[in-house]
Amino acid sequence: MKSALNSTRLRQRQPRLKLDPKRYAIVRACVLERDGWRCQECGSMEGLEVHHMKARGQFGGDVMDNLITLCVGCHGKCH
Ligand SMILES: [Zn+2]
Ligand SMILES: [Zn+2]
Repeated sequence: MKSALNSTRLRQRQPRLKLDPKRYAIVRACVLERDGWRCQECGSMEGLEVHHMKARGQFGGDVMDNLITLCVGCHGKCH
């Protein structure tokens, strides 16, 4: 079953719409600002993270429209 393994590996190597870390940090800060530094699920202001609504592999890029502010707890439920 070597060939099956190889094709799986190839499928994972998709082009990613990934920003360089500096730009991503800026976009991330803009998302937090837009969402008022609150979790958009429960309103918590602690342990905030930025979640990709669409995974990067599913044409979801590092763009503000695709990002949402969530706290650690709510973020964990999304994955
Ligand atoms: Zn939350
Ligand atoms: Zn996420």
